[in-house]
Amino acid sequence: MNTPVYLDNNATTPMDPRVLEEMLPYFLNKFGNAASRTHAFGWEAEEAVEIARENIADLIGANPKEIVFTSGATEANNLAIKGVFENNFLERNHIITVETEHKAVLDTCRHIEKLGGNITYLPVDSNGLINLSDLENAITDQTVLIAVMYANNETGAIQPIPEISVIAKKYGILFFTDATQAVGKIPVDVHADGIDLMSFSAHKLYGPKGIGALFVRKNNPAINLTAQIDGGGHERNMRSGTLNVPGIVGLGKACELCLEELNSEEKKLTELRNYFETELLKLNGVIINSKAIPRLPHCTNISFSDIDGDKMILEAGSQIAFSRSSACTSATMEPSHVLKAMGFSDENIHNSFRFSFGRFTTREEVDYAIQVIDKIVKEHRSERNYGHHQIV
Ligand code: PMP
Repeated sequence: MNTPVYLDNNATTPMDPRVLEEMLPYFLNKFGNAASRTHAFGWEAEEAVEIARENIADLIGANPKEIVFTSGATEANNLAIKGVFENNFLERNHIITVETEHKAVLDTCRHIEKLGGNITYLPVDSNGLINLSDLENAITDQTVLIAVMYANNETGAIQPIPEISVIAKKYGILFFTDATQAVGKIPVDVHADGIDLMSFSAHKLYGPKGIGALFVRKNNPAINLTAQIDGGGHERNMRSGTLNVPGIVGLGKACELCLEELNSEEKKLTELRNYFETELLKLNGVIINSKAIPRLPHCTNISFSDIDGDKMILEAGSQIAFSRSSACTSATMEPSHVLKAMGFSDENIHNSFRFSFGRFTTREEVDYAIQVIDKIVKEHRSERNYGHHQIV
């Protein structure tokens, strides 16, 4: 077993070696530009792109023509939100989103506010879920888009996607979901779920970094997006630029593998995650966040009472790679906006951590992580008790 043990698969996944193998020829002898129509190098690249498009579409129940390649989910989120806004703002300029979205959605919405758009940020309950009546009450005749993420990157909480889409349809509003953490991990079907636009990213599903996609529904309703990158008219005029053929081939293979392994992986990861939680709960003073609601199978967000979160990171960091529910912004630690929206105190956020498992996580690694955390938590608590003792 190699240490540190990697339990941060929500940040990024290691590439599956089968994905790398599929990509390699497209860096070397199959280097053609997929837009070159006049020779075999271009045809070969274009064919590989179209096969990838089919594999990607199959994973999410889409038509290959509904897949628009981007550099990742951040760009896909920008394209979906700014693309809809710019195409509609003269008639409708209101967007509804949620306080717990990823920064790639929130910062895009802040940008739109500066352009004169109107944004509603829905609150969430203590599990991180929106209330559907809040959503319906927020709708006005100006509302053009509802943007609610599929599953949260910090807690794994899954929003009620089919119910949201029913509301969107009732009012003739487009529904966009950032499904970066959900695609490849749980079954996602854009038609069954009634999704109009959906972003996702290869590096969260054992593919390479720097490639992702936006699903754009083709019919009922036909969606027009204003391109955010102009030049050349690639990707049905929605995203210009020479296609990243090796990346696309990698995303395609990663999606093919996810489809094959989804059921068995979901089961394996749920078991590992539940085992991890059960063992840590024995420590007492441990709370599993969003446990009461549907959540992703492979991750957990845990709050520990009576510990020093900073020290925990320092002590455990060389043995386990995991994540703090706080983001480092320059010199200061900013408490997670997700847990804050769920009503957590700053101190509690400080002592909350995300552990996310993946395809290559073993039981041995999980056992090791449990031992490390168990030891640290017990040490912190006994130091604190000892301290109290001295004061008395
Ligand atoms: N949305 C969510 C929910 C994410 O977790 C991430 C990655 N942290 C992104 C968007 C951004 O994805 P990318 O790295 O592909 O730009």
